Amino acid sequence: MNRLPAALSRMLNRSIGTRIVALSLGLLLLVQVASFSAIQSGLNHHARTTLPEKLRVGERVLQSLIEHQAQTLSDSAALLAADYGFRSALASNDADTIASVLDNHGARIGATTAALLDPDFRLRSTAESAGANAAQELAPLIERLVRQARVRGQASDVTVVGGQATQVVLVPVKAPVLVGWVLLGLPLSPQLASEMQQLSALHLSVLVRPAGSPTWQSRMSTLPAEATRTLSDGAPSDALAALRSNEQLREVMLQGEDFGVRAHWLSGEQHAGGAAVLGLVSISVDEAVRTPAALQLGLLLITALGVVVFAVGSVFTARHVVTPLQSLAAAAERLGEGDYATPMGGLQRNDEIGELAHAFERMRVRVAEKQNEVLQLAYWDPLTGLPNRARFRDAVRQAIEAARSTGSALAVVMLDLDRFKHVNDVLGYRFGDLMLSRVAERLKQHAVRNGDLVARLGGDEFAVLLRGADAASALTVARRIAGSFDDAMALDGQTVDMGAGIGLACWPQHADEVDNLLSRAEVAMYTAKRRSDGPLVYDSAIDASSAQTLSLLTELRHAVEHHELRLYLQPKLALATGVVEGAECLMRWQHPQRGMVPPMQFIPYAEQTGFIRVLTLWLFEEAARQWLQLMAEGLDALVLAINLSTRDLMDTELPAKFDALLLRHQVPAEAFCLEITESAIMDDPQRAQATLERLASMGFKLSIDDFGTGYSSLAYLKRLPVDELKIDKSFVMGMERDADDAKIVRSTIDLAHNLGLRVVAEGVENAAVWDMLRDLQCDTAQGFHMGKPMPVNEFCAWSLAWATRQGLPGLTRGEQPTLLH
Ligand code: C2E
Ligand code: CA
Ligand code: CA
Repeated sequence: MNRLPAALSRMLNRSIGTRIVALSLGLLLLVQVASFSAIQSGLNHHARTTLPEKLRVGERVLQSLIEHQAQTLSDSAALLAADYGFRSALASNDADTIASVLDNHGARIGATTAALLDPDFRLRSTAESAGANAAQELAPLIERLVRQARVRGQASDVTVVGGQATQVVLVPVKAPVLVGWVLLGLPLSPQLASEMQQLSALHLSVLVRPAGSPTWQSRMSTLPAEATRTLSDGAPSDALAALRSNEQLREVMLQGEDFGVRAHWLSGEQHAGGAAVLGLVSISVDEAVRTPAALQLGLLLITALGVVVFAVGSVFTARHVVTPLQSLAAAAERLGEGDYATPMGGLQRNDEIGELAHAFERMRVRVAEKQNEVLQLAYWDPLTGLPNRARFRDAVRQAIEAARSTGSALAVVMLDLDRFKHVNDVLGYRFGDLMLSRVAERLKQHAVRNGDLVARLGGDEFAVLLRGADAASALTVARRIAGSFDDAMALDGQTVDMGAGIGLACWPQHADEVDNLLSRAEVAMYTAKRRSDGPLVYDSAIDASSAQTLSLLTELRHAVEHHELRLYLQPKLALATGVVEGAECLMRWQHPQRGMVPPMQFIPYAEQTGFIRVLTLWLFEEAARQWLQLMAEGLDALVLAINLSTRDLMDTELPAKFDALLLRHQVPAEAFCLEITESAIMDDPQRAQATLERLASMGFKLSIDDFGTGYSSLAYLKRLPVDELKIDKSFVMGMERDADDAKIVRSTIDLAHNLGLRVVAEGVENAAVWDMLRDLQCDTAQGFHMGKPMPVNEFCAWSLAWATRQGLPGLTRGEQPTLLH
């Protein structure tokens, strides 16, 4: 039961079209029902106002019919009264002849009563057909007419004679004086009713109430027999007689049908107990109120036609609305899926849907433009107009797919400009940008073949995709690219020598997918840069260490947070006394999988990314803590050396951060020596100097690390607030065999001493070197010969053992030590 409405409402909810059709059909039906009931109630009202009048008219018609009939009967009686034979029989008082004439005449006109009265209204003779007790029967009838006849000279009435409604007349017989009265009685014929119906379209029922009876009996009616019976049978006389009103319609239910009725007395006297005759004119109210069949049919036809027309019209309208909406929805779906190319449909319409389509279209165009801009930004490098890394990666990926199906090869050449940072720093960023654009042009014009794709991957890094190239031909291109850098570049009146590290990797030889291929080309490039020996083809051997650096930054962060870093100490000893003066703090990474990672595998990377600042702070804090620990163990007055890199020096906040650390751990700055390489200082000498001066003023000792590997002059370094020079181990380790190295070491020591600097030699691997250095008056030594970098607790044990071996008194500095070999 419930399923149908539910299904219907689902259908209506789902489609606007169905709703439009249902709504218009519903409205149409509503209008039709309304107009039908308006017609109905109009008819009803009309009928009820006109029917009483109609019945009144009917009553008059009935009256005149009765009067007419009475007149005819009177005329007939008068004719009899004037009949010669009758009069002569009357004169001769021939009773038989009189009865026979009465009989004949009565029979001729269908009278049921014919009689002669003497001038005093006494019955003289009746028709031969009248029964024996005719005189008795006629007495009340004569009595009824006498009064009227006396006044008017003749009389007529309708009354009940022999149970029948009968019209009676009393006419005088004059010869020429009054000689008697003729009485004629003629029953009302059914013709009266049918005439009545013809004239007025009303029903007529004639009811009689014989003398002495309280109820009515029907004698004649045009109503169906059943209805007539309902009307009359047993109805009390006054109830029927009351069916009379000039304004109001008196209604009676007859066999389920509603009739308007009006009563009319046919008998002149109606007093109770006397015989009476009542005429009832009636009309079916139901019929009068009923919508004529033709009108019903018309309405029905109009409704049916309306339904068809509305259905077709609303289906059409719905289509007109719904179809474009559906196509807009489909278009919006397309936009959602990223198809901004297909224009909207329905733009030619001028209505609201057209507006909607236009709005959608504007949105599509704008989104497409934005999309383009985003793509442009996402895929193109605005400076050089070259594809960027993302675009290049896509291109390589597609090229690999294409090569896979054709079975050909491809290669990626990657290059990174040398000293670009320096160019930027010295000549300015504008110049740097100009140079990058020029390099891009050079690459596009000269270096590469038709169809190769040149891209700028970022910074000073470029890449070229060589489709269909194997390692050999790719190397040829790479060499040509390297060759294009041979000519110095003239820019803004300056001539710049350019160089680049170039590496390449091939598909499928070196990698099977795009990211691997790119990272291998990069590995080859960085290796080529380090070796500075021209373009390099990727080789799995060079990758072993480099590949690991890729995920390094994340791992390094993890390392700091999860305490994987370790502080190692390598002793620094006074050459003259053999006493442990201090130690260099060196970082180790206890990697959960890779084991102990040497600093050369992550420090350079950390320097590149700037993460070294975090590492430096970690190390410094750890060193400060351990310094206090060493103090507690009796190793006091040790100076711990800490390595600073370029990034640290460029950090103007560094002195403040160190200061905060010293304060927090309550350690003196004098307990620390900061080792800085020449190159770190030379990257930005002014800034480095400012930082160094602040550090020195705080009390830190400063040392120039790896001295001898750079090009800076000692005279320049002297201007810095340094205390110490640390000769690079590459000279120290070989000095015992290499006379040149020994010479460099000696002159460095002398020069430093002359400038008032202390000298440290690192890389002391044997006793011979120790002795040589001591003889050269070098101040401090550090090296595997005395001790390798070791964890702090080992360092304590080592110090103790060292002092004992040296015969030193405890751990304090003694006199005249001799090194045990
Ligand atoms: P460096 O500053 O020159 O440190 C001295 C390096 O020489 C250390 O290598 C040390 O183990 C090594 N060494 C010392 N004596 C000898 C010897 O007799 N023979 C030989 N062959 N080597 C010797 P390590 O520990 O591998 O560190 C390498 C470099 O990593 C360091 O060079 C330093 O530049 C950097 N480094 C290490 N720890 C840190 C740190 O915490 N911060 C910074 N910025 N750099 C660090
Ligand atoms: Ca160092
Ligand atoms: Ca060093």
